[in-house]
Amino acid sequence: MEIVSRIDAARIALDALIERSTRIVAFTGAGISTECGVPDFRSKNSPWQRLKPIDFDIFISDVLQREEAWRRKFALDDIYGHVQPGRGHWALANLVASNKVVGIITQNIDNLHQASGVAAEHIVELHGNGAYATCLDCGKRHELGPIRRDFMATGAAPICGDCGGIVKTATISFGQSLPEAAIQRAYEMATGCDLFLAIGSSLVVYPAAAFPTIARQHGARLVIVNDEKTPLDDVADIVLRGDIGDIFEPFAA
Ligand code: NAD
Ligand code: ZN
Repeated sequence: MEIVSRIDAARIALDALIERSTRIVAFTGAGISTECGVPDFRSKNSPWQRLKPIDFDIFISDVLQREEAWRRKFALDDIYGHVQPGRGHWALANLVASNKVVGIITQNIDNLHQASGVAAEHIVELHGNGAYATCLDCGKRHELGPIRRDFMATGAAPICGDCGGIVKTATISFGQSLPEAAIQRAYEMATGCDLFLAIGSSLVVYPAAAFPTIARQHGARLVIVNDEKTPLDDVADIVLRGDIGDIFEPFAA
C-alpha cells in the first residue's frame, strides 16, 4: 500500500490510474458531498450526531416518532435540499460520459450523482434516495411536495392513497434491510471492474464497506480517496490522502 498525500502527486497518480484502466467503478460516501454543504455522518458538526436517525422498527411501530422523522426530514431539506454537485461529482460525470467509469455505487442519499447528469442505469444507490418517498407496502412512489403540503396542514404522517400503507422516504434506515437488487448490481460492478475508487467513505458501514475488498479480491486495483485514515487503507493499492474536490478537480472541468 502506498500513501500519496501531496496534491500534485495525488493528481498525477489518479490520472495514471485512470489512463490505464478501462472499466472503472466509483464507490462514493458522504465525503464527496461535504464541499457541496452536506455534512458527512461522522464529523463533529454533523446534524446526525445531535439528532440520531430514527431506527426502522421505531418508525414503523411509533406514530409519534414517524411524525418526528417527517418533521426532521423537511427541516433538513430546508437546509440541504437545494445543494448542487461538487467537483467530485462533476469529475465522475465526465468519466462516465467518456465511458471510463462504468458505474457508481453510492452510499449517499442526496441525489447529487443524478444532478450532475449521470443516468440512473450507471448508479447503484445502496442506501436509497431522499428526494422522494415510497409506500412500504405496495412500493408506489410518492413525491415529497404533496406529502409536505398535507403534513404541514394536518401534522399527520403520510399514508398511501392506493393501499393505506406507511409512506417513508426512499432511504434505508438503520435496521432496514438493503435493497437486494442494488446489492446484486453493486456486486457485479465490484467483481467486473479493473479499478475501484473508494471516495469519501469512512468504510465502516457494512455491507456497503465490503465492496472495496470484494473488488480487490476479484483483481481490481483498489484506490481509496479520503482525507483521513480508513480501516481498509492496508488493503488498498494506493491511498490518495487529501480533499476529494482538489484531487478530482482536473477531471471536473
Ligand atoms: P461518513 O460520514 O462515515 O464518512 C465520510 C468520510 O469522508 C470520512 O472518512 C471523512 O474523513 C471523509 N471526507 C469528508 N469530506 C471529505 C473531503 N472533502 N475530502 C476527502 N475526504 C472527506 O460517510 P459514509 O461512509 O458515506 O457513511 C455515512 C452514512 O450516512 C452513509 O451510509 C449514508 O447513507 C449516510 N449519509 C449520507 C449523506 C449524503 O447523502 N450526502 C450525508 C451524511 C450521511
Ligand atoms: Zn401503497
